[in-house]
Amino acid sequence: MSTGFDTNMVAALVRASDAASQQYQDRPCENCGADASRPYVFQYARTLSKQSRTVGDTTTTTTSFGDVSARAAGLCSGCVDQHRRKISRQFQRGLIVAGPITLIGLVFGLTTPDSDLREIALVVALMAGIVVIVSIYQLWSYRDEDNVGRRKALALHQPALEEQGYDSFWAQFSLDELKERLAREQG
Ligand SMILES: [Zn+2]
Repeated sequence: MSTGFDTNMVAALVRASDAASQQYQDRPCENCGADASRPYVFQYARTLSKQSRTVGDTTTTTTSFGDVSARAAGLCSGCVDQHRRKISRQFQRGLIVAGPITLIGLVFGLTTPDSDLREIALVVALMAGIVVIVSIYQLWSYRDEDNVGRRKALALHQPALEEQGYDSFWAQFSLDELKERLAREQG
């Protein structure tokens, strides 16, 4: 994972996620009430402070978090699948719109004799190209059922947690990944 968490933060995420998993009891799906559900764990915290330090050309921002917590939400496979299809459709639409713009911008930019138009066309192609790359990445990451379940669980609970003052949320980490990272950092 590419976040700049320090070892203490990773340890706090593991502790919270472990506790949430252990406290989880079989319950109906929190989204539709269906009987068969399984837990999906996401993490959240409050931002305490952000400090930026610039050394040479590189600026590093260190964020410290408080109240690092996790929650296990029970969801049925039907609701997870529905969420996957809904999000996938959004990124598919992004691809359908941005794909042709990238191509047209590139072809036009590389063939027009007008240097101003060339610059505009290539910038448009670059921006649309970024949308294409992000869409493909998202579609790829949403193939993982566990990942989709965690995001759906977070989407269900985030509004209430925001009202309680939480402002940082993570659904991209599986407990196994967090544990592996902690083991690596502790050597
Ligand atoms: Zn459900």
